[in-house]
Amino acid sequence: MSDDDGDMILKVNAVAEEYKYIGTQICENCGSKRTYKMQMQRLVDFRGFPCDELDCVCSNCGSKKTFVFDITGIFEGYKNMFGN
Ligand SMILES: [Zn+2]
Repeated sequence: MSDDDGDMILKVNAVAEEYKYIGTQICENCGSKRTYKMQMQRLVDFRGFPCDELDCVCSNCGSKKTFVFDITGIFEGYKNMFGN
């Protein structure tokens, strides 16, 4: 994970919210709206809670950006679903 200290980690309760968020972002490089496309998703442990890292690329200029989401809420949902 790079330059994580300045970034806000968004809490989401569903994977769909991650895609929805990315779909509303403006490219930091070229300023295009809604051009980020997800390339890779991975689960990481960040300061003790589960996070999703989504590597995205702008479909207009090709610049990359990684979004990080706190998915603790999704994990708790699974726990409730499957019991212990
Ligand atoms: Zn761009």
